[in-house]
Amino acid sequence: MFATLSDRLTATFKSLRGKGRLTEADVDATVREIRRALLDADVALPVVREFTSRIRERATGAEVQQNLNPAQQVVKIVNEELVAILGGETRRLRFSKNPPTVIMLAGLQGAGKTTLAGKLGRHLKQNGNRPLLVACDLQRPNAVNQLQITGERAGVDVFAPEPGNGVGDPVSVARQGLEHARHHHYDVVVVDTAGRTGVDAEMMQQAIDIRAAVTPDEVLFVLDAMVGQDAVATAEAFRDGVGFDGVVLTKLDGDARGGAALSVRQVTGQPVMFASTGEKLDDFELFHPDRMASRILD
Ligand code: GDP
Repeated sequence: MFATLSDRLTATFKSLRGKGRLTEADVDATVREIRRALLDADVALPVVREFTSRIRERATGAEVQQNLNPAQQVVKIVNEELVAILGGETRRLRFSKNPPTVIMLAGLQGAGKTTLAGKLGRHLKQNGNRPLLVACDLQRPNAVNQLQITGERAGVDVFAPEPGNGVGDPVSVARQGLEHARHHHYDVVVVDTAGRTGVDAEMMQQAIDIRAAVTPDEVLFVLDAMVGQDAVATAEAFRDGVGFDGVVLTKLDGDARGGAALSVRQVTGQPVMFASTGEKLDDFELFHPDRMASRILD
């Protein structure tokens, strides 16, 4: 994960080793290297600008007087600023005081929503909840069936449209799913929705309509981390369309660069909450900005 960025940053810090103090030229060279490494990792330009200006300010500022050598000081500053752009604190799910808590998943087709629904369901179950997955992706052939299989593997119940009963109308399935959950005392409902291969008005309207029908406590935007810079435009379109409260980064296992992961929080203003790191149900974790920063700087 993010191997190139890690290597580049480590090499930059190495070049500072043994220095007694940092000259302006040292800071310039370091900031330049960090900037290049971030741009090569596909981090969004405004994020790179803000990040490097914070590093420059802090590395040249009064702060550089502690009992650390210059290389250690720069590592510390970069670490803290990485944690900050990754969101600072771990953002956990907010549960409704009046269950069921409704979690809606939104994102492009192939982002990993259906897979995530199973992982999230399992995670919730392990934490003592009684989740229900609701299959509202009626766009992609087989998506309902895929959710049913995922749910079965995860040991989590799935609400799917009955033939002839609201088939073709995801908003009505979402409503029925929520009703079913209330009736059968599920305490969390995870609504899987349809995506398209690109952002389009009809898909966004459908997501908006489902949102209006089930008033979710959390809308999670599911983002394939491997798409790099394009992720930023997609995230902005979903923020301005259906809107969302948190981000789930998927396919981090295949993301060698890290651009989407490092940009999405700053660009959308919403925190990354979970990470999906493989196709198996277990490949799922809470997103901890501090741990992610440590991994990058390891
Ligand atoms: P959806 O269209 O958003 O519902 O996407 P799916 O859940 O069907 O996922 C699309 C593809 O990505 C499937 O082949 C999944 O197995 C795969 N996938 C989902 N999450 C991950 C992940 O974290 N890592 C990897 N390597 N593959 C994933």
